[in-house]
Amino acid sequence: MSLERANTLLKRAAEQGYGIPAINVFNYESIAWAIEAAEKEDMPIIIQFWPGFSTFIPMAQIVSITRELAEKVKVPVALHMDHSNSYEMAVSGIMSGFPSVMIDGSSRPFEENVKVSADVVRCAHAVGVDVEGELGHVGDGMKEDDLCTDHFTDPDQAEEFVQRTGVDFLAIAVGNGHGDYVRMPQLDFDRIKELRGRLSVPLVMHGGSDIPADQMQHAVRCGMSKFNIATEYERTFHNSMKSYLDHAEPHRYYYDGLQEIKEPCVQFVRSKIRMLNPDNKSK
Ligand SMILES: [Zn+2]
Repeated sequence: MSLERANTLLKRAAEQGYGIPAINVFNYESIAWAIEAAEKEDMPIIIQFWPGFSTFIPMAQIVSITRELAEKVKVPVALHMDHSNSYEMAVSGIMSGFPSVMIDGSSRPFEENVKVSADVVRCAHAVGVDVEGELGHVGDGMKEDDLCTDHFTDPDQAEEFVQRTGVDFLAIAVGNGHGDYVRMPQLDFDRIKELRGRLSVPLVMHGGSDIPADQMQHAVRCGMSKFNIATEYERTFHNSMKSYLDHAEPHRYYYDGLQEIKEPCVQFVRSKIRMLNPDNKSK
């Protein structure tokens, strides 16, 4: 089927009571295998691309590969551009064909975050593109200071932020962080529940890698919908290729290695899809 809007998938997920993994991709295989995993699980998926990787692969190619592969499967696939840190970057994602973009003004003062997010929303909505904003700041999982409550999303501010910006879904900071974690994260479930109760838009968890399954599933049950997975997927590629190369005979084709690592990568995404559907709801 053709690409679906991320917002449509996330609203359905919230109503049905499951979460959707947003898998960060970086090449053809990382897209194809995530979509194959979704097809095998018969559940929706969000393919997501961080624009910092556009030095390796043009953004428009990510769009065309994902569109083409989505049309070959029966499950809903959405495509989203992760973490634009400026108006210009978000617009370049829209112009490259992303049907959904993030504007991350979370490291700016509140009023500046409102302004840049509202500006992106006005441009994006004019051409039918969804927008993810962020309030509170999801920092680096390796920095203890970034995981402290000072950075958590304030529910009063969040209500005002969503109302003034018009974002379609909101990334929140509730004890999560990007990359590896310096310690086991402890999500603030009371805050998730309060934000879920006060906001009409779907809620997004950045830094979903390495958060224990019981906490991820509790977050789903508290009403979160989009779970970003980057670090663990890339680690699966790296570790699988390393173990292949450690044992591969010399002079084999690189293609052989790609075939060898496909199954663990597909299985990884399948495991995340199942984990985020703790009550076995249907799409
Ligand atoms: Zn993020």
